[in-house]
Amino acid sequence: MTSTDPTPSRVLVLNSGSSSVKYQLLDMADSARLAVGLVERIGEETSRLVHTPLTGGDKRELTGPIADHAAALKAVSEELAKDGLGLDSPELAAIGHRVVHGGLKFSAPTVITEEVMAEIERLVPVAPLHNPANITGIRTAQSLRPDLPQVAVFDTAFHTTMPEHAARYAIDVETADAHRIRRYGFHGTSHAYVSRETAKLLGKDPSEVNVIVLHLGNGASASAVRGGVCVDTSMGLTPLEGLVMGTRSGDLDPAVIFHLERVAGMSTDEIDTLLNKKSGLVGLCGDNDMREIRRRIDEGDRRAALAFDIYIHRLKKYIGAYYAVLGKVDAVAFTAGVGENAAPVREAAVLGLEELGLAVDGELNAVRSDAPRLISPEYARVAVAVVPTDEELEIATQAYALVRSGA
Ligand code: ADP
Repeated sequence: MTSTDPTPSRVLVLNSGSSSVKYQLLDMADSARLAVGLVERIGEETSRLVHTPLTGGDKRELTGPIADHAAALKAVSEELAKDGLGLDSPELAAIGHRVVHGGLKFSAPTVITEEVMAEIERLVPVAPLHNPANITGIRTAQSLRPDLPQVAVFDTAFHTTMPEHAARYAIDVETADAHRIRRYGFHGTSHAYVSRETAKLLGKDPSEVNVIVLHLGNGASASAVRGGVCVDTSMGLTPLEGLVMGTRSGDLDPAVIFHLERVAGMSTDEIDTLLNKKSGLVGLCGDNDMREIRRRIDEGDRRAALAFDIYIHRLKKYIGAYYAVLGKVDAVAFTAGVGENAAPVREAAVLGLEELGLAVDGELNAVRSDAPRLISPEYARVAVAVVPTDEELEIATQAYALVRSGA
């Protein structure tokens, strides 16, 4: 590169699932998004790539077989190249990868080396659905641009600060340690970003505020953040623990599993599928989309109403629990698909909590906006906020800061 070349400032963010890749290309000189897209149904005949350039030009959709992740990334690269944003560009500074499980070793974004890959691989037994897909995504990106720093940003990283009394399950210590069983927590990139943005909304430094973050998407988790540091979170060894989710049960008596084995004759895999894919809102009422559930409630559907009530009851229990964990709460922040869009969820979650200083203003709560905003009345002691999450921006920011620091 000559001295007249600009400093590379673009970061490609990749979120690789088992049969999908979501991507965003950002320019960190001004945090602008240049392109977003996804490839889904990789390995099937009906794969689909949806690419949206944000620098001008129309959204494009390609259908037809895409055999594997390598073919998917190649197709993405070709689409980006059509907009003059190809992966061979010298302006690309790094590729940032969302990696779901970083165990206890990774408490910060990390430049990927072979040792890092070996550790991500070692964590496959505790993240069998996610880490293999992340590994495939990284290997593919490395083969496309071997010269470029690849950075792993871990979903678990923000939660590594949890004190042991919050992270350890009350089971035999030797057994737990032998199998690395403890609470790790997930959605950490979102909890980190949203807790920081909430402090900003209050005009304070993150170190000055205690925040309960409620990340309510299809997956859902709560966290207690004291002075910018996570002290508890609702997901555990896997993302199954905690809140009622779209398709996951969240908390339940572990003896339900023995009962299903002994009395219902179900296999471990069948129970795994039941609790991860056929439970939560979908198990309770057949729908996991909160829009559809609200529509059914408006039509008088009692199953949908019960599913909603169970969802809210669990949410309220976690707000109460984390209030107690933190002692003093400055803000409760709602985020992700449900948290950002479903006003009735926000209203119901804090209903009756006025004695805790929590309330929602009906008019403010009804406002639709992409901006972080307060929805509590002025008199409320605790701020209630809607703070849109942006995991891709956070991954790009962290990856870029790391490569710029020369680490
Ligand atoms: P994930 O990233 O976990 O797949 P999202 O954060 O995108 O999930 O959230 C998806 C969920 O958000 C949907 O399943 C739906 O329940 C909810 N959702 C999205 N838009 C709305 C809306 N306008 N009103 C209510 N719920 C919504």
